[in-house]
Amino acid sequence: MKFKRIPLLIVLILSLTASNALSQGLDSAGLCTRCKPCEDFYKYVNQIYLEKHPIPPDYSYWGPWSEVFEHNLSILHDILDRAAARAKSGEAPKGSNEQRIGDFYAAALDSVTVERRGIEPLTPEFDRIDQITNTQGLIQEIARLQSLQVEAPFAVGVDQDAKNSERMMLTVWQSGLGLPDRDYYFRPDKHSKELRDAYVKHIQRMLELAGISSKNASTDARSIFSLETILARASMTRVERRNPDSTYHDLSFEALNRLTPDVPWQPYLADIGASNVNDVNIGQPKFMAVVDSLIIHEPLTTWKAYLKWHVVSAFSPALSHAFVDEGFNFDKLLYGSNEQQARWKRSIRSTDRNLGEALGQEYVKTAFPPEAKQRMIAMIENLKEALRSDLTSLSWIGDTTRHRAIEKLEAFQQKVGYPDKWRDYSALTIQPGKYLENIEAARQFEFHRELNKLGKPVDRTEWGMTPPTINAYYDASMNEIVFPAGILQPPFFDFSRDEAFNYGAIGTIIGHEMTHGFDDNGSKYDAKGNLENWWSQSDLKNFKERAKCIIDQFSSYTVQDSIHLTGGQVVGESIADLGGVTLAYAALERSLKGKPRTIIGGFTPEQRFFLGYARQWADNVRPEAERTQVYTDPHPPAYYRVIGPLSNFPPFAEAFGCTEGDKMVRPASERCNIW
Ligand SMILES: [Zn+2]
Repeated sequence: MKFKRIPLLIVLILSLTASNALSQGLDSAGLCTRCKPCEDFYKYVNQIYLEKHPIPPDYSYWGPWSEVFEHNLSILHDILDRAAARAKSGEAPKGSNEQRIGDFYAAALDSVTVERRGIEPLTPEFDRIDQITNTQGLIQEIARLQSLQVEAPFAVGVDQDAKNSERMMLTVWQSGLGLPDRDYYFRPDKHSKELRDAYVKHIQRMLELAGISSKNASTDARSIFSLETILARASMTRVERRNPDSTYHDLSFEALNRLTPDVPWQPYLADIGASNVNDVNIGQPKFMAVVDSLIIHEPLTTWKAYLKWHVVSAFSPALSHAFVDEGFNFDKLLYGSNEQQARWKRSIRSTDRNLGEALGQEYVKTAFPPEAKQRMIAMIENLKEALRSDLTSLSWIGDTTRHRAIEKLEAFQQKVGYPDKWRDYSALTIQPGKYLENIEAARQFEFHRELNKLGKPVDRTEWGMTPPTINAYYDASMNEIVFPAGILQPPFFDFSRDEAFNYGAIGTIIGHEMTHGFDDNGSKYDAKGNLENWWSQSDLKNFKERAKCIIDQFSSYTVQDSIHLTGGQVVGESIADLGGVTLAYAALERSLKGKPRTIIGGFTPEQRFFLGYARQWADNVRPEAERTQVYTDPHPPAYYRVIGPLSNFPPFAEAFGCTEGDKMVRPASERCNIW
């Protein structure tokens, strides 16, 4: 489990009408000729696209990412239809990955059986909760539910020790809220109050559907909400959690028992299979102290209701339509989609979530040509060269810091496409017709796989995303950048297109991930992936001032008239976006040296670079989803990922002839510049 890995974007609802915008990319005809590039470059590049691509009713947003996602769905659909038929006929050997994905998908798709079974598949879990009689029983049930990835009231997993990246460590993290973030429990505005009211009603209806009487469900819903509010108050904010020094508390069991004297840790650890560990990282000690007190003081009846709510909520997508509809209706308030996605789409996503590498292995055979990997590796090398040269010449850091930064860059590991070593699913049994039980089995398999890492060397071959995923990440403890096959396709990566466009698209994404190694968070880790300061005091002060420039810039942006972006929440991603553009642009200039500067479609290579950059962020988004993004996502909305970095970047102004006073050019005194 990775509590600190940061993806390129958080996809609210992974989202084609396979439009040919994918392969055509950009030409001058696709640009908004009535829009001015120096006023609003995002609009200039994307307005026509956005007008031509309204959000489909089953999506909360729509853009090139969603198009690629739908394209992937169609590939996965063929793979899974075939696997399901072969599993059914017995052609796929029992216990093979093909049988696993085939039977899993078919059971997910089988709405008749799911409907007939109703709540029955969850009855054993409810019975267990009903049988709790004391604190020890409660903590053991919490452990049981964690093994099903129901992380209430806290989460547990195994992660690299932040200060010794060679060691795997038990880690406990705040969790247990049904709303997307702690702040949802406290925001005073009308909309937030309405959302809280709707949430309490949603809990009540789910409990009623699960067979609890209306009167009890109503009382329970209010108690559950009060309990969650106490947990929320004790939780760290998103901004607080960005600082890895604040979430590192390596406690011996003696110290843990002092912090949480009422939690019977021994039976808990035995149940999760971690009896022999000597220490644990408690991400949020204050939160755990509050959990400790709640375990003693909150009535057991409230705890039982709370656990039932979290179980039913976690598994509702695998239950009958009444549960699915109730979940969808509440999610609508957060994301705004008008229709549920088709069952086959939801079933594919569920297979990806639960058996990702078994499915991914088939996906890459169809969708990922080996030459794509070679070309990507060459591009990464060019970007590394750009960063090396940047670090060598940067004027605001001293030589000691410079030396350490270059050392960190040289130690970067990279993963492209798919794992060299695939996950071994042989201990996981998937049965026909048992959708919910299959999810439970897959989740338990994953939980035990994680816990098994304790006391073993760090597995550096592991991937944190499945191959079809359209995303990328930097991992600070591994000091590695990772690009799944999913993102290595048009419009991000298209070698039928010219170089300038590709540098603006996938090049900036590579640069973005590299820069994470040097953002407000990543810069705290050294070349070995250890949380250890390698900065001289004056350089660090200088860096913090530069990061503050980004915080202030993004805090000044307002969406929907009244909602401010939180600079401190999006600072890491925004440093990475600016770094990504800077590095990819430098790499392009390097590759253009000595070559003729061809004009294509009326645009210079530099202009095409910026067009490629802006187009990949085209995004139509529903207001509900936008609000949720601003409140919860470390990434700013797509619009600001374009205008934010480009308005800080003089080569952009130069390429389009923009001057100070234009909206796309921040005054020199306010301009941010880091890497
Ligand atoms: Zn990022």
